[in-house]
Order: sequence, then structure tokens, then C-alpha cells
Amino acid sequence: MISWLINKKPDEVNSQEIVSLLRDPSTDTTKALSEYARAIAERSFGRKIFLRGLIEISNYCANDCYYCGIRRSNTQLIRYRLSSEEILLQCDEGHSIGFHTFVLQGGEDHYWRGERLVKLIQTIRRRYPEVAITLSLGEMEPHEYQDLYNAGANRYLLRHETHNVTHYSLLHPPGMSLSHRLASLAALQRIGFQTGTGIMVGSPKQTIEHMAEDLIFIRDFNPAMIGVGPFLPHSATPFAQKAKGSLELTLRFLALCRIFCPTAMIPATTAMATLHPEGRIRAILSGCNVVMPNLSPMSHRKDYSLYDHKASLGAESAEGVTLLKKELEKIGYSIDWGRGDAPL
Ligand code: SF4
Repeated sequence: MISWLINKKPDEVNSQEIVSLLRDPSTDTTKALSEYARAIAERSFGRKIFLRGLIEISNYCANDCYYCGIRRSNTQLIRYRLSSEEILLQCDEGHSIGFHTFVLQGGEDHYWRGERLVKLIQTIRRRYPEVAITLSLGEMEPHEYQDLYNAGANRYLLRHETHNVTHYSLLHPPGMSLSHRLASLAALQRIGFQTGTGIMVGSPKQTIEHMAEDLIFIRDFNPAMIGVGPFLPHSATPFAQKAKGSLELTLRFLALCRIFCPTAMIPATTAMATLHPEGRIRAILSGCNVVMPNLSPMSHRKDYSLYDHKASLGAESAEGVTLLKKELEKIGYSIDWGRGDAPL
């Protein structure tokens, strides 16, 4: 059913062919894509899942993306930002559990930028020379990214969200632009970061054609990391009443990401685990090879509310690694405690 795809190189697959794979409603197609993607992931990484300790350092954001629960206009949210000491405490805890990657994620908070952020990264780097430091703190200017890289950060996640300029303008307020987002991604890659991008599947007004554009962009950009999850609405956003993204379509998109980017690090995202009880495991069985347990202080987890009902406990949490290990064992996978750098 997808033998034609198996016989093609990724860059020979055209937009129409991607559209037909994404649009095909048959669960057999999802199954075939997942199996093929899983075989590719196994060839690249074995049956290993890499862990990243996720520390949500601030839920302040200067932006107002229409889909996001921590957008500037959400006045119902209790705002917090962690201090350097609090972040370092979480790193200590993560290191004692065995994590070798810390992901510092937050809104575009000007407090956590510039010299203060550089100093924090230098401190983490000195304290843990062997860990990978991943940042996910939004758009900055190239010289700022360069300073963060020089301070010892290794990776940067910045989802482009959609590669279609009209669709981008339906998800973001005036003042944000796709061209600046793409320029930021290009700068990160040029500087030498292991750079990650990605989208939400099922975001309002997204079409299958948009998703095909996204896949072609991802394939050609060749990111080190790809973050993809379903769109999930948040009650305090303009998209509160919009439908969630579909599990099957997200799995197909993830499988195609793996098929096009055999060595990228692709997380089975928290959004997948939130969407469906088996979302994380099905994502792994569709080629994902990373899980990012939540290492944020327990007292703030509910406030980092990107969408409603976000999972942060059980196997989604750093404390729940034993549970995650058991879940993985059931499907014949195990945890790799290494840094998990994307092969060049
Ligand atoms: S998606 Fe990112 S940039 Fe946009 S409002 Fe949310 S945290 Fe801010």
C-alpha cells in the first residue's frame, strides 16, 4: 500500500503524494506508515528512548499567539518565573535522577534573556560539563543566540507552527511574522545549534495542503529535532471552542517526519499523552524516540498551561520515570540515559 513510498528517496516525494498519504482515511495507511517509520527509527537508534528533563522556567510571555494558554492577554493565569537558584535546584534533582539533557522552556520573557540567561547557562555548563542544554525560549536576534551558544547551550527548539504565510497570520497577531520565525531558525542552524522545529496538527484553519508544505519544509531544513503534537484548545484563548487535532492524523504526520528525517530526535510529546491515554506509546510506535518528563517544580506545573488538561504527572513527570520505564518495556523499548545528540 505504501510500497511506492518505500522505493523512493525522501526528496523524491512530492507535495501531491504527501497530501494523498495524509488524506487517506484508512487506518491501514496509518498502520503501514507507522510500521515503516518505526523500522527507520530502529535502524537509527535501536529500541531506545532518550529522556530530556523539561524545566518550565517562566510562563510570562510578551507574545499573544491565539492558540496559547500563556499568551500575554490571558489575565486568568497565575504568572511565575523561576529564579536561577530554583532552576539550578531542578537541574540538581534531574541530574540525580540520571537526566543528561535539561530543556529550559518558557514564554518570550524578557527577564530570562541577555546577560542573566547567559550567566545561568554558564553556571549549568560549569556544574554539569557533560549534559546537553536545550533552550526553548522563542525568537531572539542572531547575536543573542550566538551569546547563548558561546555560553554552552547546545540545542534550541523553535517550532515554526506553519510554513504557510496566510495560515501563520491566522494563528498569530499582527507584529509576529513567519519570515522572522524562519530567519531565527536559519540563524540557529548557522550558529551551530542542534535546531528543532515543528507544528501543531489540527490547528484552526490548517489544511492538509498546509501540512504537506510543513513536511517539505521540515525535510529540506533537516532539523536535529522535530516537535509535533496535536492542537489542543485552551479555554482562555480565542480558539477555546475549536476542535482538537486528530490522533490518527498526528501519527501519520509524525511517521512522515521520521521517514523524511531518519536521524532526527522526535519526542512523543506531552500533547500526545494529553490527547489520548495511549498517545505517547503510539507516537513511539510511529517513529518517535524521545520523551521529555516534566522536571518543573510541582507547585508551578499547573500554571504552565499551554492548553487545557496538560499532563504533567505519572509517566509525564520526572518522578514517574519508573512508570515510564515499565510502559516502554511492555512494547520492547528501554530508556537510554545518554545525552542523545542527533547524529550529524
Ligand atoms: S506560543 Fe510561545 S510565543 Fe506564543 S504566546 Fe505561547 S509561549 Fe508565547
